[in-house]
Amino acid sequence: MFLKNVSAFAKKKPKNVILLIGDGMGLTQIYSGYTANKGQLSLFNIPTQGLSITKSSDSYITDSAAGATAMATGHKTNNRFISVDENGKPLELITQQLAKKNYKTAIISAGDITDATPAGFYAHQSDRSYSEPIANDFLSNPSDILIGGGPKQFKSRKDGKDLSKVLIEKGYTFSDKFSSLDTIKNSKFIVLDDASVVSMKAGRGDFLSKSLAKATSTFAKTKNPFFIMAEGAQIDYGGHQNNVEYVVREMLDFDKVVGQAMEFVDKNPETLLIVTADHETGGLSLIDGSIEKGYVHGSFSTNDHTAVPVPVFAYGAGAQNFAGVYQNIAIYSKIMEVISGE
Ligand SMILES: [Zn+2]
Repeated sequence: MFLKNVSAFAKKKPKNVILLIGDGMGLTQIYSGYTANKGQLSLFNIPTQGLSITKSSDSYITDSAAGATAMATGHKTNNRFISVDENGKPLELITQQLAKKNYKTAIISAGDITDATPAGFYAHQSDRSYSEPIANDFLSNPSDILIGGGPKQFKSRKDGKDLSKVLIEKGYTFSDKFSSLDTIKNSKFIVLDDASVVSMKAGRGDFLSKSLAKATSTFAKTKNPFFIMAEGAQIDYGGHQNNVEYVVREMLDFDKVVGQAMEFVDKNPETLLIVTADHETGGLSLIDGSIEKGYVHGSFSTNDHTAVPVPVFAYGAGAQNFAGVYQNIAIYSKIMEVISGE
């Protein structure tokens, strides 16, 4: 029944876009989650897949900065660069372009909001480590909602500026307590709480699910279309630590959000859901396991990123355009093409 719906809508023009980025999520990270969860994964119920080639302008192996820039601007750039070109010139962001089309936008991360992946969607800096300038760039970005960690870069800065005051003047609600999320009535808000973006093992709980639900329910009150980017930031951390258990816990949390987003698409078929990664982390190979027992044993070939193309799963209106093998920058251009019905 629902698959019939999906194929009927797959060729239609979407209004809303949900982009879920599993940082460091290659096929083996996905399959380790599937195995540990005894053969259950929402992601594997998405019928349309593609492969994204992730290389950056100056490296065979991308980092999250160049990876986010590719998806947020449609341009390849150098590693460490945040949505600026190889010469350091700012590139127009999908959040800026969509704001001109009356979109509401939300940027969510289960990590620090000034980290490379979320930063790529609102900032322009020539190095990913410039956390304070990255936070400052949010002042000139039109996005409505920001949820993640990293209040320090906004409130206790070395330059003494308190960005939260400026943002409140601009009409945002600003909170450093994730527990206040449900009480926020404003359609523009920023919630940055370091304690809410610890690892799953350390008790992050349903941070991502709650954040996505809050963003969709806030935008549902407007007539505007929306774009939401939500990042499962810590699949990458597990890869860097060569820790399969870390990868699996984070992968399954991310997959829960995938399932939640799929349900949203089922109820709101004018929505396109894209689930992908910026790169694979750890060169993970699965060398033993049992789906019946939920046991998986992996081996890592590096504590850094690898070059292998990453899967793209697309669900809902416009999904069929995401089949095939293409460069990571095509994720941006395909989104822009399908929403404008080209
Ligand atoms: Zn990484």
